[in-house]
Amino acid sequence: MEVRVRYAPSPTGFQHIGGVRTALFNYFFARANGGKFILRIEDTDRTRYSEAYVQDLYDTLDWLGIKWDEGPVVGGPYGPYVQSERTAIYQEYAKKLVEMGKAYYCYCSPERLEALRKEQEESHSQYQGYDRHCLHITEAEKEEALAKGIKPVIRLIVPTEGKTTFHDVLMGDITRRNRDVSPDPILLKSDGFPTYHLANVIDDHLMRITHIMRAQEWIPSGPLHVLLYQAFGWEPPVYCHLPMVLGKDGQKLSKRHGSTSVREFREKGYLPEAIMNYVSLVGWSYDGQKQFFSKEELERLFDMNKINKSSGVFDYKKLDWFNGQYIRQCDDERLKGLLAPYLEKAGFFNNPPTEDQRKKLDILVPVVKERMKLLGDVVELSRFLFQEVSYSDPALFCDKKTDLPTTVKALEQGSVILENGLKDKLPSEEVEARLCELATRLGVKVNGVFMPIRVALTGSQVSLPLFDSIKLLGEEQTRARLQRALDFLHEATKN
Ligand code: GLU
Ligand code: ZN
Repeated sequence: MEVRVRYAPSPTGFQHIGGVRTALFNYFFARANGGKFILRIEDTDRTRYSEAYVQDLYDTLDWLGIKWDEGPVVGGPYGPYVQSERTAIYQEYAKKLVEMGKAYYCYCSPERLEALRKEQEESHSQYQGYDRHCLHITEAEKEEALAKGIKPVIRLIVPTEGKTTFHDVLMGDITRRNRDVSPDPILLKSDGFPTYHLANVIDDHLMRITHIMRAQEWIPSGPLHVLLYQAFGWEPPVYCHLPMVLGKDGQKLSKRHGSTSVREFREKGYLPEAIMNYVSLVGWSYDGQKQFFSKEELERLFDMNKINKSSGVFDYKKLDWFNGQYIRQCDDERLKGLLAPYLEKAGFFNNPPTEDQRKKLDILVPVVKERMKLLGDVVELSRFLFQEVSYSDPALFCDKKTDLPTTVKALEQGSVILENGLKDKLPSEEVEARLCELATRLGVKVNGVFMPIRVALTGSQVSLPLFDSIKLLGEEQTRARLQRALDFLHEATKN
């Protein structure tokens, strides 16, 4: 039997990291088993629908390099793959259920249902939900309702006796008493639109889905779905409800923990391969050891039986670490293309970059590559190169434990060493050795000399390695900044 799985998002928000994990697990499972990955858009909730969310779904999957075998845009033998285009199918199948005696029309007015709900609430009735009034409705009552202009809904007959069991690959058998399943849920609304349950079950059947991998929050819907399959006389697919994605505090991952939408991660400068790799490890592991997986490896090695039963924790620090590792592996040419938009947005680059900016990027990339966790880090790491630095606090020049007069001396003499080095084109090791000697002479740690130079050149105590910064700035800028810093310190220490 060919494996057929689907990702069936509702376009009611931007793609969430949890949703993307569901998509990836389904995709890898399909690939690892030589099956098909189907994309289906469950847009029955028209109030929260937005075209922008559909576009975001496409953009996210594109960005991750996930191609669907069947679905919107690409089509396929079981389309359409957008639920709002399948209304006639749901209506036909709902009617079939009525004909088979598994469902019935309900003509209750909203007022009656509201009154019923109130009454149940006030009497603390253990019987909650619809009272099945229309299951035994008389012809006269029906006529009366229709004359009033009431458009009926279709409800499923949930058995009052017995139990319903469904099997979940990870959780085992899950059994509910039928009388605990909310009685007679609506399948088709009065406007002719299906409810989620009806559309979901019909589509999974008609699209020949073999395995359902979806979020654990759908477990409570499981028994109802199985009852629907039984009502139709269909075989349910294999269920595998995925472990939850939690924040470090054990709460469901949400905005409180940090970014959750893929577009935010993308904007901040995460690479698709890092997101793919890390997200795949939230709730899944191959052998408990291997951490780095290329897309090709996941397509080959993904195994449903290795999904964890317990929740997965989404660790932002770990993701950052993965991202840094992937940036270091990134080819320089690709990295240049990825970084340019950040430099542009910061106002450092024109669009397209000038010749001079391009040259700077050539030198910048190999240096920053080793130090970035996010692509966006390039802005702060390279600010000194594109913006004039300003000095406002003499204390910033001092390494801890070095006083200001000594710091001024270190910068004066250090500048001479650097300028001679530039003039004589000395290797940086030689210049560095001379700066270290200077530190010894002044009786300070090496940073007592390096820190004021670093601050003079970059305006900051943390920067790229000193000699890389000098190379990036060029001779003229280096001289000018050393001089300006000295002027500033002399002025500040006058009197
Ligand atoms: N549209 C549902 C969702 O977005 C799909 C649930 C399922 O996969 O069955 O969660
Ligand atoms: Zn009714």
